[in-house]
Amino acid sequence: ASEAGDHDLVIIGGGVAGYVAAIKAGQEGLKTACIEKRGVLGGTCLNVGCIPSKSLLNNSHLYHQVLHDTKQRGIEVGDVKLNLTQMMKAKDTSVQGLTKGVEFLLKKNGVDYLKGAGSFVDANTIKVALNDGGEQTLRAKNIIIATGSEATGFPGLEIDEKRIITSTGALALTEVPKKMTVIGGGIIGLEMASVWSRLGAEVTVVEFLGQIGGPGMDAEIAKQAQKILGKQGIKFKTNTKVVSGDASGATIALNIEAAKGGKEEVLDSDVVLVAIGRRPYTDGLNLEQVGIEKDDRGRLVIDQEYRTKLPHVRVVGDCTFGPMLAHKAEEEAVAAIEYIKTGYGHVNYAAIPSVMYTHPEVAWVGQNEAEIKASGVKYRVGTFPFSANSRAKTNLDTEGVVKFIADAETDRILGVHIIGPGAGEMIAEATLAIEYGASSEDIARTCHAHPTLSEAFKEAAMATYSKPIHF
Ligand code: FAD
Ligand code: NAD
Repeated sequence: ASEAGDHDLVIIGGGVAGYVAAIKAGQEGLKTACIEKRGVLGGTCLNVGCIPSKSLLNNSHLYHQVLHDTKQRGIEVGDVKLNLTQMMKAKDTSVQGLTKGVEFLLKKNGVDYLKGAGSFVDANTIKVALNDGGEQTLRAKNIIIATGSEATGFPGLEIDEKRIITSTGALALTEVPKKMTVIGGGIIGLEMASVWSRLGAEVTVVEFLGQIGGPGMDAEIAKQAQKILGKQGIKFKTNTKVVSGDASGATIALNIEAAKGGKEEVLDSDVVLVAIGRRPYTDGLNLEQVGIEKDDRGRLVIDQEYRTKLPHVRVVGDCTFGPMLAHKAEEEAVAAIEYIKTGYGHVNYAAIPSVMYTHPEVAWVGQNEAEIKASGVKYRVGTFPFSANSRAKTNLDTEGVVKFIADAETDRILGVHIIGPGAGEMIAEATLAIEYGASSEDIARTCHAHPTLSEAFKEAAMATYSKPIHF
């Protein structure tokens, strides 16, 4: 299948997975084309995901802090007003700056960027239905599918992105809803609940499971997160399922009941956010034509080198296995190009961090305590609260804890779970530690600057094999 084509590589999808693969391929001297139908590069992450959500999270946090947390710091502020239009504009400016930057990088690395929808004609031919009309056909030696994912809908609730919304609508509301219900207490649900609750909405999160935070979050940390977010004003209904909804009235009526069955209750809201997960998006690729397979959850089936049944067609990012995270997509994209170029590539799936950008942030890497317990490995836990950390105290920002879990015999770090200020930056050190097979003692014997939040990280490591100094 590796006959000569017009391009060494054609990439379908210009999200994080696709555009990173394109840049890397350009750097490696492969003649590369990247096809994106959105009309702009960056995919979900840059346009309607990671980036706009972090803009709103950051600015809504500042607003909330100015409203509620200045007096004790000796700052007297006058009338504080929300200008939502400007907040949205600031978000859009960040997004535009970054997507333009990606377009520049593709150009700089000699990648042909085609605006249109790609589909298979045969194993080495991709047809592009151009956004501006017309068609173009590309012959390719190698193909990468990087078509990403889409929000999962809720049966019976039709998404209009105004009253019944996915995260995309939640990033673009034109006014603050009075009452907002979030179906699903995973990362999207909690990040968006934080934004709109800080801006003044009454937010209720309905979560099917007994624990918030979505898959992977350590139970103890999730419990703390729920308590802290609850204090900030978000209401939680865990162990609860939405049975049905009716959007025909002035408000949206959701019928909810205990997950295990029981009495029904009606929840009225102005806006309902459906945040119950995302699923792979592979529509319109004409995969049947070439025999590329999906599993029962719609994920494209690949081997360890990202190859489909057709060895010259690879898949990376949200439309295949693994966590739906931008940095995971990026690692896979680089590895896939290395496989094409050299035959070798590598991603360590045991060291992929997760971050929830609420305040405080929640971040983790490696296994959680329940997973380690279930694996039967003997382990030790060390924790250190931010309330005992000098920098957190001076910042008047002391909620949260660092939790280390290490193998009881070898002291090798198995997982690190943090809730606290700056957790998303701090988790990089834990990821590096796991990548290099470090022990908790290795971390504890590494000098950390004073006064920094990272000393809480060091002392949690100390607490794992010995005793912390400051607690
Ligand atoms: P996508 O980004 O979905 O890109 C796929 C692209 O392919 C799309 O632009 C699509 O238009 C295009 N496409 C599809 N079919 C075709 C076709 N036939 N022809 C041409 N183009 C096509 N992850 C994090 O790591 N950190 C975060 O903070 C974070 N925040 C998020 C917040 C929200 C609200 C959401 C929804 C997601 C967030 N994510 C976050 C997840 C992250 O956005 C995804 O993991 C990431 O975008 C996956 O990249 P991808 O390239 O695989 O897919
Ligand atoms: P998720 O899988 O993380 O969480 C969905 C939550 O909804 C789960 O807790 C689940 O138990 C619950 N749920 C499912 N069905 C339900 C129902 N019928 N009623 C009530 N609750 C229900 O999915 P998500 O939050 O939608 O996020 C989608 C993807 O996007 C995830 O893979 C996530 O990692 C990624 N993402 C990442 C970030 C980040 O890294 N900061 C931010 C946003 C999104």
